[in-house]
Amino acid sequence: MDVLIAIDGPSGAGKGTVARTVASQLNFRHIDTGAMYRAVAWRAQQLGIDLADGEAVAGVAETAVFTLSACVEIDGHDVTSAIRTPAMDAAAAVVARHPEVRRALVSRQREMGRLGGVVMEGRDIGTVVFPEADVKVYLDATPDERARRRAWDRAHTASQTSGAPDHVGQIAQALEARDQSDRTRAVSPLMPATDAVYLDTTGVPIDAVVSQVMALIRPRLRPVP
Ligand code: C5P
Repeated sequence: MDVLIAIDGPSGAGKGTVARTVASQLNFRHIDTGAMYRAVAWRAQQLGIDLADGEAVAGVAETAVFTLSACVEIDGHDVTSAIRTPAMDAAAAVVARHPEVRRALVSRQREMGRLGGVVMEGRDIGTVVFPEADVKVYLDATPDERARRRAWDRAHTASQTSGAPDHVGQIAQALEARDQSDRTRAVSPLMPATDAVYLDTTGVPIDAVVSQVMALIRPRLRPVP
């Protein structure tokens, strides 16, 4: 098996940018598991399924056809921007609390990462999906910094307007509610794996974080025979 890199942490910690950049530098596949939870929530809503119904949502998670590249598609629908809204932030966190949904998505994520050559980002990659990952990184930052980054994140449709303090304040509140949900759920709560390298990215430029992560990975790369 080729090398598998697990990058976990709360939203706004820099996971997306770091995972994408590291994957591109290594010529590895980048898999954003958060996009899978978001897409499942979107598709379940579109099908008129009650998000509180874990079994029904898990049915979507088991059978959905995903495309996870620069665009995110589920069952042929391009949901790249539709899943990046405050409403979908909340909906994804709701479906992610169902054990049946997690079972279905974890099994699909294991299949996707089975051969390695993958940078997988999420909340439970180092703890549950690939506890045997070659490199595990847990990225974190202060709640203020994470809210500020989210406010300026242009991929997040409703966040495009400004980084003004009242706007950042609202984002900080929503982020705190989602963190609380992710950290306290019964199945696979967000936490660093005991053997993960914890990096606090507060005030650290993204290039420097990428360099730190690459320095952890380089010794683990297997020489090409
Ligand atoms: O990473 P992102 O913010 O896109 O994830 C959306 C939501 O999906 C998270 O708030 C979390 O509830 C859920 N998630 C998860 N496990 C993962 C990835 C995401 O529970 N591996």
